Order: sequence, then structure tokens, then C-alpha cells
Amino acid sequence: MKCQVCKKECEEIFEGIILGKYKVKYYFCKNCEHLQTESPYWLDEAYKEPIAAEDTGIIQRNLNNRVITASILSCFYDSDRKFLDYAGGWGLFVRLMRDIGFDFVWEDKFSQNLFARCFEYTSGSKIELITAFEVLEHLEKPKEELENMFKISSDILFTQDILPLPIKRSWWYYAPQSGQHISFYTNKTLDYMAEAFGKKHFSYREYHLFTEKEIEQNAFEEVVKNSAHLYLQNAVDYKSKIASDMEYVINCKNKVNC
Ligand SMILES: [Zn+2]
Repeated sequence: MKCQVCKKECEEIFEGIILGKYKVKYYFCKNCEHLQTESPYWLDEAYKEPIAAEDTGIIQRNLNNRVITASILSCFYDSDRKFLDYAGGWGLFVRLMRDIGFDFVWEDKFSQNLFARCFEYTSGSKIELITAFEVLEHLEKPKEELENMFKISSDILFTQDILPLPIKRSWWYYAPQSGQHISFYTNKTLDYMAEAFGKKHFSYREYHLFTEKEIEQNAFEEVVKNSAHLYLQNAVDYKSKIASDMEYVINCKNKVNC
């Protein structure tokens, strides 16, 4: 099987049981350290419920992501520009960011938009940065998906738990019971992809940034580390969009589709 990141031949490393019944092979690439399942024929079944009932961390994760994203945007980006939450699920993160004044829009091929109706991404909009939380581990062809994302924006902020080496048969992040996690990365894999697209890659804990900006690793790390403090410090300047968004939705011409 060919690696979906670097196209080199990869080797079968273990088997797992997905959705409690499918015996599935996992392949590891020694060149870029990407781990992937065999071609995922079970995805229709896995995505019957795009957001799994077992995802009890959904609210806390979105709240944490808001604090860290707001701090990164305030420090390194033009906060008045438009941002896209890619594969944004129910739209919770978009709503949370709009609540503190950031012009976020939503996109998702699989999930219904519940909280950010009328704030969908329209093709061709200029996007300062894409956020992609809990996305890359779902991708069968990560490099192609990143290519699509980079057509929309030059920069991507994302979360990804890093695959521990040496590879173990069991790691909670494989989450075989849901069948949705099919692609796993080390920092080497992420570096490889960043370089392939001519980007810099910074990471701290599970937060990663692919960027063209002149940012230093230390600066990125300090902002993520101190994000709670920065968030509170900047909070006085946040101009919530709650009221103006309500006006906008009342007058939204596309409301039937939202
Ligand atoms: Zn590879």
C-alpha cells in the first residue's frame, strides 16, 4: 500500500477491530511516519452519526479552542478579517468566535449546521486563516484535502494528537469503536506536509500552525501557553457580534437554505 502523504510504500504493522466487527490493517510509512488504515470501506456506517454520542468532550474542547484561537489571532493575524472553521460540525465554534467578535464562517461536508446558520462559507471569500479542529485524523487523503484548504487560505491552525513512537497496537486516539479515525501523524509527518506546500510548521501540545507568516516557534509556544491570560487581557476589546448577527439573520435572504 502507498502512503497517502509521501506516496512511498508502507508496511502493515498491526490489525485492529473497527466498529466492533471489521478486521482492519494499519500501515506505517517509515519515510514520513504516517500511519493509516487500509482503504476505509466502512465510512458510511461510521458517519451515520457525524458527531458521536461518546464525544462528551465537545463543549469543553470548543471552549478551550476559543481561548487559544482568539489569542493566536490577536497576536499574529488581522483580527478584523474573515476566518473559516473547516469541517465545523454543528457550528458551535463559529458561534463562540462570533460571540467575541471574530468574523468566522462555517463549512462541513458531513454535518448539519445548528449554531451558525446564515454564516456558511461562500466559495471565493477571502479567508485570513482556516481552523481545522479534530479533522486530520478523519482524512483518507490528507495531502489532497490540505491542498483544497490551501486554495482557500494560506494558513491553517489545527489540532492533532501526535502519534507516539514506537508504534503501539493500542492508543486511545485510534478510537476504533467509532471508525472515524483513519490517519495518524508524528511531527515529522506534519513537517513533511508543511514543506510540501511551502509552509512553516509550528506546534505546541496538540496545537499546530501551518503558516507563511514570519512567526517564531518560541512566540507560537508562548502564546498557546499563556492563552488564558491573553484571552482575559484582550476580552475588554472584543466586540460581540451577537446583536448584529441577529439583525443579519432576520434579514438573511438565504434563510430558507440556512
Ligand atoms: Zn509517507
